[in-house]
Amino acid sequence: MIRIENLHKSYPIGKDSLHVLKGLNLHIKEGEFVSIMGSSGSGKSTLLNIVGLLDTHDEGNYYLNGQKIENLNEKKAAILRNKFLGFIFQSFNLITYKTALENVALPLYYQGVGRTEREKIAMEYLDKVGLKDWSHHLPNELSGGQKQRVAIARALATKPKVVLADEPTGALDSSTSHSVMEMLKEINREGMTVFVITHEEDIAEQTDRIVRLKDGVIISDEKVDKSVTA
Ligand code: ADP
Ligand code: MG
Repeated sequence: MIRIENLHKSYPIGKDSLHVLKGLNLHIKEGEFVSIMGSSGSGKSTLLNIVGLLDTHDEGNYYLNGQKIENLNEKKAAILRNKFLGFIFQSFNLITYKTALENVALPLYYQGVGRTEREKIAMEYLDKVGLKDWSHHLPNELSGGQKQRVAIARALATKPKVVLADEPTGALDSSTSHSVMEMLKEINREGMTVFVITHEEDIAEQTDRIVRLKDGVIISDEKVDKSVTA
């Protein structure tokens, strides 16, 4: 589903540049549930943004669903994102003046789905995350956990092949974090590939595979041993 070979990324800093990703190799198969760990500044978001076609890499190869990603303009990137990817962010990134239902329906609008149909689908997904009764509320009327559930419904509404989550539990208390991770597990059981960034060990342990990033390289990539979890 995702294949990365010798990936490099630098950011220009004045006349210098900051080399953030220094030759990453990563292969994520369809249906995997993978987390990426690393301290703050280690390049996790940079990697996720490249995988999510929100940013471009400098060197190396990236294949998404078998397609080599190169020379994408913003329009082509947006089409691929809409077709294959769903995003969940730490800060939810909901549109503040739109209701929960409208937020979930928005990516369907960009896919050209008609109003009645998109509202029906959006309602189904809000129901799935337990927020059917909150569909006409604005984000500021919802708790953090509810906002993240709206964001999850929005990420799922277009039936993406891959869900990318950048610190999805970073702004939530531990029991809410747990229920968000349960939801991601459920999504994965339904067949979606899920790729989660976290810097919390207990969150990473809820996934099936942990990739560790340090100083721009992958220092370990291991299956989670479910037999020892209490
Ligand atoms: P993480 O998500 O692991 O905390 P990031 O990928 O956000 O790390 O950042 C890695 C490094 O790249 C940090 O030193 C950060 O300051 C720098 N960085 C991230 N985005 C940019 C940018 N757009 N321009 C310049 N530097 C950036
Ligand atoms: Mg980050």
